[in-house]
Amino acid sequence: MGMAMGEGEIIERYFRHLGAVRTDVALGIGDDAALLRPAPGCELVQSTDALIEQVHFPAGSAPRSLGHRALAINLSDLAAMGATPAWALLSLTLPRPEEAWLGEFSRGFARLAREHEVALVGGNLSRGPLSITVQLTGQVPQGTAVRRSGGRAGDELWVSGTLGDAAQGLILRLAEGGAQALPPDAESYAAWLCARFEYPAPRVALGVGLRKLASACIDLSDGLLADLPRLAAASGCGAELEVDRLPLSPALRAVSGDSAWQQALAGGEDYELCFTASAAHAPQLQELAATLGVPLCCCGRLRDGSGVELRRAGTVIQFAHPPFDHFGA
Ligand SMILES: [Mg+2]
Repeated sequence: MGMAMGEGEIIERYFRHLGAVRTDVALGIGDDAALLRPAPGCELVQSTDALIEQVHFPAGSAPRSLGHRALAINLSDLAAMGATPAWALLSLTLPRPEEAWLGEFSRGFARLAREHEVALVGGNLSRGPLSITVQLTGQVPQGTAVRRSGGRAGDELWVSGTLGDAAQGLILRLAEGGAQALPPDAESYAAWLCARFEYPAPRVALGVGLRKLASACIDLSDGLLADLPRLAAASGCGAELEVDRLPLSPALRAVSGDSAWQQALAGGEDYELCFTASAAHAPQLQELAATLGVPLCCCGRLRDGSGVELRRAGTVIQFAHPPFDHFGA
């Protein structure tokens, strides 16, 4: 479907040379389809995810952040498989083509794409309610992808980065202009937390490093409380999680106070990795963390059985926090 500015003109101006220049793109934007040359001996790894206005982001969200996040959520899925990202397709539905919006959106997308050597090789523009769908393809050497199902009882459970920041950032963003006042020491952290929601850093290099070390991996999009049971179930195991060991940022502690651990458990949109590994790999994991400058935290283990048991101060706790549902409710 055509747009007022003209689909061709929009593509030419904002999307034709977006992202990295890759020699394995035989034919990119401009024909009916793209031609790609996968590396010999590699498997293709594909993921797609949509961002829909009022479902995954509030109306009026910064377009630069939307361009970044639409790619980041797919990069995170590929990272969880240990894949190296390569080629993206973008399907964009817009109520009307606004140059300022398109410019900012494409800048947000392009910056992250170049950082991870992703080329935009095609896509589609339509008129309609704002929604952004990215399809991302990456590669792994055959047989080396990390799956959710490879965990075994006794494996240690790890998470990257810090948890709960993005959910708190979204709360702050939605409360902006509202009555919520932050304590003075917390105000300086608010921008950092908002950035953790608006500009998540997918753990691509970590995912690649985990190919030889992790037995199972999942990315944290819906929150640990929702995503960890998926990994455990796929691995045919139960899990124990030490809530006191969850990695919390100074910013989250300052803003959320005593409920920071609950945010870390139930909050979504972190796009950190949750993975399992044999205890024998702990030294190599610490080495990987130091090399990449990405904190890794061991906070539990897989065990026989099913379900996730939460422990706090040495005792089993029940936690009935409603699951993170973006902000659609
Ligand atoms: Mg995922």
